[in-house]
Parts: sequence; C-alpha cells; structure tokens
Amino acid sequence: MKLLIMGRPGAGKGTQAVNIKEYYHIPHISTGDMFRAAIKNGTKLGMTAKEYMDQGLLVPDEVTIGIVRERLLEKDCENGFLLDGFPRTIHQAEALTAFLQENHIRLDAVLDVDVPAEILVRRMVGRRVCKKCGATYHVEFNPPKTEGICDVCQTALIQRADDTEETAINRLSVYDKQTAPLLDYYSKQNLLKTVNGNQPLDQVFEDIKNVLGA
Ligand SMILES: [Zn+2]
Repeated sequence: MKLLIMGRPGAGKGTQAVNIKEYYHIPHISTGDMFRAAIKNGTKLGMTAKEYMDQGLLVPDEVTIGIVRERLLEKDCENGFLLDGFPRTIHQAEALTAFLQENHIRLDAVLDVDVPAEILVRRMVGRRVCKKCGATYHVEFNPPKTEGICDVCQTALIQRADDTEETAINRLSVYDKQTAPLLDYYSKQNLLKTVNGNQPLDQVFEDIKNVLGA
C-alpha cells in the first residue's frame, strides 16, 4: 500500500494514520518526523532545513521535497508507505509525481478524511481543559458533571487560547485554501478516496479499509 493521507486539522487523521500503519505494516512518514530524523542523522538536507527552522523561517519546498525523496528511497518503503503532511502545495505534488515516476513507484490512493469545517469548529470551540490535572472535556460532547468544573480535581476548567472560533475558522480556511487544489489534482488522477470522518473512529477505519479494497 502506497498512500497519502489528508484531512482538515482536527479531523482525526493522526488516529487513522496509526491504524493504517499497524494494519498494513507500512511506515508512517510525517513531514515533522522526516525533518526530525534528517536533522538527527545530520544529512545535508537535514542541516539545511535546520538552518531555516532555527531562524523561524518556513523550510523551502525544494528542501522538503529533497527530504521526502531521501526518505522514500529507504528500504522500509519498498513495500509501502503512508505519507502524511506532504505534499502541501501543487508544486510539491508535481515534484512528488515526477519523483515517483522516475523511480517506477505507483501510488495506490490518496485518502481524504473528510469532516465538514463547521463541525470541526464546533469541536474545537467547545473544548475545555483542566490546567491542574490535564483532563479534557467538551461542553457539548463530553461535559463535566458540574458546568466549568473538573470532575477529577474540582478545578475550574479553561478554554485554550487557540481554541477560539476565530482561530479555528482561520486555521481551517488556510488549510482549505492550500489543499483544495491538491484534492482536485489527485481527483483528476483517479487517486482520491474520500472517507467520511464524521463518525466513530473505528467506523472511519472500516471505511478506509473498504475504499482501499483490503
Ligand atoms: Zn482536573
């Protein structure tokens, strides 16, 4: 299985990536992991990426593409892989297509774990956390016994600064703007498989296995 996985922030892509990795016995390659590994192994590309990250700059496409290429040529990717967090732009997608063609590697599918943006906003905005013990709640889906108070340690619950409606909408619209052309790109290649992510996690995974036909 040679797969890409995509999904809006908060859609549960991470959980499904772990399920896929374990079920199909393929490496889960996330951009974040790739950067950390390249930097740790001291590869030339890793060092270049580090220079940008140390300055708080975005790593340029060429560097990211180079790191993905290095990783996909490692032996554990021969029988399959799950790419996560890459590509993010059409430019990256085209570079990936060219690389795969050069190396006679064929993608099986591009999975999109789809949860409507308005539902994700509701999920994010309703989140409450206990600063003292770390317990998490949701005002709608998982409320504490007493409103605003932690069940475990009776501390007042807080809303994280980045769980506001404005931040949620902003994050999601940035993602959609960036990703919509990619969904279109892979749809035209007949690779896009959309899975309904707005259902229980194990049902989402059942649907993933179904669309992959295995
Ligand atoms: Zn607590």
